[in-house]
Amino acid sequence: EVFAQLNLSRPLLRGVASIGFVSPTPIQAKVIPIALSGRDVCASAQTGSGKTAAFLLPIMERIIQRGGGNTKNKKHLAATRALILTPTRELAAQCLGMMNAIGKFTDLRAALIVGGSKNINSQAAELRTRPDVVVATPGRLIDHLVNSSGVDLDDLEFLVLDEADRLLDLGFQDEIHEIVKSCPSERQSLLFSATMGTKVDELIKLSLKRPVRVHV
Ligand code: AMP
Repeated sequence: EVFAQLNLSRPLLRGVASIGFVSPTPIQAKVIPIALSGRDVCASAQTGSGKTAAFLLPIMERIIQRGGGNTKNKKHLAATRALILTPTRELAAQCLGMMNAIGKFTDLRAALIVGGSKNINSQAAELRTRPDVVVATPGRLIDHLVNSSGVDLDDLEFLVLDEADRLLDLGFQDEIHEIVKSCPSERQSLLFSATMGTKVDELIKLSLKRPVRVHV
C-alpha cells in the first residue's frame, strides 16, 4: 500500500513524500481511513509505530476540506480547530515538527503550548492569532484556560489524547478532565495509548463517542 491510496489531498501527499514516507505504517493504514470517515478512534500503539502521522494526516485533511488553513479564503475566519495533548514537551515538539514537515505545502498553522522557557504572554499572543492546530502539554494549557489568556476552544472540531497512559501516569487526570469539559461536545476525538487499563478506560468513556478500536 502507498499513501496515494489513502484519499489525502495533493499538498499532504507532497508533504509526506518530501520527508521520505512511501508506505503507511500499519497504524497509519488502519487509523487514517477511519478518522477520515469522522469516527472517534481508540488505538493501542507504541511510540515508533508512526502514530503521530496517523492522527495528524486525517485531521489536517479534514481541516483543509472544511476551508481552514487558508488565509486567502476570507470566508473563513481563523479558528483553532484541533487540540493535541501530549504528556511531555519533547513529544509536543516532535508532533509540531511532524505537522510542519507534512504540512509545508499547506497554509495550516500550528502552535506549541508547553511549559518552560517560552514566555506565557507571547504564547497567549500566538493563541490569539488562532492557529489551526494547538499542540500542548496539559499543565500549560490549563494555565491559559484559567487565565483566559487567548486560548479559545469554542470552534474546536478535533481532540487528540496522545500517549493517554503516560498522561495519566504523570498525574494529569484532573487537568485532562478539565480540558475535555472545555471542548465542544460535538467533536471528533482520537486517543492513543501504549497500554490499556482501568484509568485509560475511564478516560475513553469520558472523551470518546462510540470509538472504533484499533490494535496493531
Ligand atoms: P511516531 O511513532 O509517530 O513517533 O513515529 C516514529 C518514527 O517513524 C518517526 O521518526 C517518523 O518520522 C517515522 N515514520 C512515521 N511514519 C512513517 C512512514 N509511513 N514511513 C517511514 N517512516 C515513518
